[in-house]
This record gives sequence, C-alpha cells and structure tokens, in this order.
Amino acid sequence: MSEPFDLPFQSDVMPEMLTTESKIRFRCHKGISCFNACCKQADITLTPYDIIRLKRRLEVDSSEFLKKHTVPFQMDGDGMPGVKMRTDDSGQCLFMTEAGCDVYEDRPTACRYYPVANLAMKAKESPTEEIQYALVREAHCKGHEEDRELTIDEYRAEQQVADYDEMNREFMQLILKKKSAGPTIGKPPELSLQLFFMANYDIDRFRRFVLSDTFRNAWDLPDELYADIEQDDIALMKFGSRLLKQVLYGEKTIQDKDGYYQQRLDARKDVIEMRRQFEIQRARKKDDEKYSEGGDGGCAS
Ligand code: SF4
Ligand code: SF4
Repeated sequence: MSEPFDLPFQSDVMPEMLTTESKIRFRCHKGISCFNACCKQADITLTPYDIIRLKRRLEVDSSEFLKKHTVPFQMDGDGMPGVKMRTDDSGQCLFMTEAGCDVYEDRPTACRYYPVANLAMKAKESPTEEIQYALVREAHCKGHEEDRELTIDEYRAEQQVADYDEMNREFMQLILKKKSAGPTIGKPPELSLQLFFMANYDIDRFRRFVLSDTFRNAWDLPDELYADIEQDDIALMKFGSRLLKQVLYGEKTIQDKDGYYQQRLDARKDVIEMRRQFEIQRARKKDDEKYSEGGDGGCAS
C-alpha cells in the first residue's frame, strides 16, 4: 500500500493523478480575479529546507522563526512532529500582502507547487519512493480557466522547484519510511520525537547540540564534518537526516567513540552505588530515631 506525503493547502477535492509529461491548463498572475485567494486559506506544511530559506530571508534564528511564524502539529498517530505556517484566525497566511507574497523568492515548497501536489509514495516492499503529481482544482482558483497549457515538468521549471525537491528528498524519505513501515516501527520514544523536531525544524538549536562537548565525546565524526556543520545549514540539515535514520530506523552510519558507553555505564554504576548507600543510611537513621523515641510502639497486649 502506498501513502501520500501531503497535500498543500486545504482541499476536499480529489486530485487527478499525473506524470511529469502530463499537460495542465493553468496560469497564475497578478491581474487574475482570484489573486491571493489561495493564500487566504493557507494550510502549508513546512519542510526543513523551507524553514532554512525563510529564516535566512527574515534574518532570524530557527527558534525565533518557529515561535513567530509556525504552529506545531502531529503528522501521525505516533506523534511525529510537523510544523505548519502560522495564519491569522481567518486562515490567511501572515506573509500575504495586497501586492502578493511578501517572501515570494523564498516561498515554501507547497506554495511553489500549488495547484499541483507532489505526492511521494513508497510501497512497503520497495526501498525507494515514487513521485507522482496531482492537479488540485478548487472553485476559488481561476487559474484553471486561463488559456495556457504546459506540462508538469514545464510548470516545475517555472516555479523553480528542482532545488527544493532535491533538498526535501531525505526529509520525505524519513517520513515515508515511517508511514510505509506502519506499526512495525511503533511509536518512537519521546526523546527521539524531540530529536526529530530539533534536527528538522529548530536547526540552530540542533547545531549547538551537535557542536557541544557531550555530543563530540560520544560520536566518532571527522573534524571537517563539524567545521561544515558550524557554517553550513544544508550540511547540518543533511547530518540531521543521517542521525535520525540511525536513531529511528537503526541505519547505523555513525560510530560511537570507543569505550564511550562503557564509561557512561561505569559512571552510572558509581552514581547508583552512591544512591544505594544513601538510602541505606537514611533507613538506618529512621530506625535509630524510631527506637530512641521509645514511644508507644510494640505489642500492646
Ligand atoms: S508564503 Fe506566500 S505564497 Fe505561501 S501562502 Fe503565504 S503568502 Fe501565499
Ligand atoms: S490563480 Fe489560483 S494560485 Fe493563482 S492566485 Fe488565484 S487562487 Fe491562487
């Protein structure tokens, strides 16, 4: 069974399935009667690359971007975290202006594709995903009535989505792997879900985590990788996907440092022994106090 990735914008309309060569009739421009109508009902799921582009444009760090411009949601019943673009109470995107999109050059993937939906599918038995497209026809969108035909590939080129598709690929694989595995993977532990959120969305915080002594002492990684991660958001995003594949799906590509886990275990043994001694002493003290009080305890018969 295949699972779709996501559909941009809210829609109850069943899409038509298309290939890259399929022709669509569509044109969107500033003079169209419905200009901005789609951005007034925006339901945009953001990818990690969308966030990198937007936070750079707005010159804020990822934590501030998430706080001001997004809302969290759960992508599945196991609580896999996702983030959506924040809207006002009427559903209008906060980046919408009378003149159009205020972040146009860095608008998210879903906005670029609309009204085409990019549906990544992965069959359970297949190691790779398959990309299909769909055309979403909504009554408010008059672009479908314009006199222009072009293929899906031509539309993708016009919207400059190639870079976005490339950058989104590993994130999409992470999600599809979880979906296609179904209940066999089960609900990830809370700490893994928190790591998923940080590595994918709050990447400036993730950078501090990866560059910390605690992380460096635990994992055997080359200095050059740390140097890239320090300066380059994309290198950090790719490392995040690699780490998550290991943590969530056991695809081991990162070795822990020799003896690290044994050292941690030894350190914990000391702490456990200290706690045990403390509990013994506390119990003895309690007993001493009980008997020195000499109260009414004991058999009353
Ligand atoms: S980011 Fe821009 S294109 Fe996307 S919904 Fe908001 S205003 Fe519209
Ligand atoms: S034509 Fe469609 S995509 Fe373009 S502004 Fe109108 S509703 Fe939005």
